[in-house]
Amino acid sequence: MSGSAIRPTERTAARIVPANAAGIAEGARLLRAEKLVAFPTETVYGLGADASSNAAVARIYAAKGRPAFNPLIAHVATLAEASRHGVFSAAALRLAEKFWPGPLTLVLPVAATNLVCELARAGRETVALRIPAHKNALALIAAAGLPVAAPSANRSGRISPVTARHVAEDLGPDVDLILDGGACPVGVESTIIACLGETTQLLRPGGLCRALIEEALGLALPERVASHEIVAPGALASHYAPSALVRLNAERLEPGEAGLDFGGRFSQGPATLDLSPAADLDEAAANLFAFLRELDSRGPVSIAVAPIPRHGIGEAINDRLKRAAAPRS
Ligand code: AMP
Ligand code: MG
Repeated sequence: MSGSAIRPTERTAARIVPANAAGIAEGARLLRAEKLVAFPTETVYGLGADASSNAAVARIYAAKGRPAFNPLIAHVATLAEASRHGVFSAAALRLAEKFWPGPLTLVLPVAATNLVCELARAGRETVALRIPAHKNALALIAAAGLPVAAPSANRSGRISPVTARHVAEDLGPDVDLILDGGACPVGVESTIIACLGETTQLLRPGGLCRALIEEALGLALPERVASHEIVAPGALASHYAPSALVRLNAERLEPGEAGLDFGGRFSQGPATLDLSPAADLDEAAANLFAFLRELDSRGPVSIAVAPIPRHGIGEAINDRLKRAAAPRS
């Protein structure tokens, strides 16, 4: 581009590039320069910044409008790097070895050699760590050579993005670069487990289902205790919220409603999208946020959601829908 003048269209558009070698190299360079880079993971698109820099992390909170008391997950490429930042209990190590890379976040006590900055940890003596199972994400983190703080790349409280276009629609030019690696295969955020001292606790259901974690640990995970000092993920009850109201466990559509179906329960028509006609929960999770966005963009008064089973990844789907339906503040 010649000259320094920025045309209006350029000021309002986000820059999306393919997540190929050149895109990854540019993304890594921007992360090292404390800029914001959105990138695909297997769960949802992340809004990445250098997790070791308070200044870089401050930009994440500003771009998302996220309350600064809500800490961020730091993404790393190897278990050795994770061990630099967090102290692994025997249970944490078992989970990491079995499920990383993957949709599992571990909240651990900070290690003496930790680099994840205070702002990313919201001032806590704990650190949330994950190795994502997505080749673009791993390549970016490795090329940057930094822990990468990355919450979902959407305005706080809104629907999480599962395509590069969703990120551009939500964050526009507030993100310095968006790496396009196609749609996210899992479609819901990571499962968060706290391994602090003797206790192992499920803080948020997500892409890795409870039964697999319980099998690996050989114990049943206790429900999160409400009084526990750790703030719940998406601590506010209303989260993942479309503009339309959301009505759960609907048996049929009311006039004027859009339908988010599962397993072909509603009469099919233009107002309805089926998360999985074959009633497959993994397929439903992968479609969840994109279909919520699509129905919402049609401007219905409300979105009726068919009942969805709670087993497997259904626990995470129901968690997100409950928050989407919660009263808005
Ligand atoms: P997300 O909203 O997907 O970015 O997930 C971040 C969530 O992880 C937060 O809302 C917390 O519940 C949890 N979390 C992240 N960092 C920490 C930390 N240092 N200590 C405790 N929980 C954390
Ligand atoms: Mg989020």
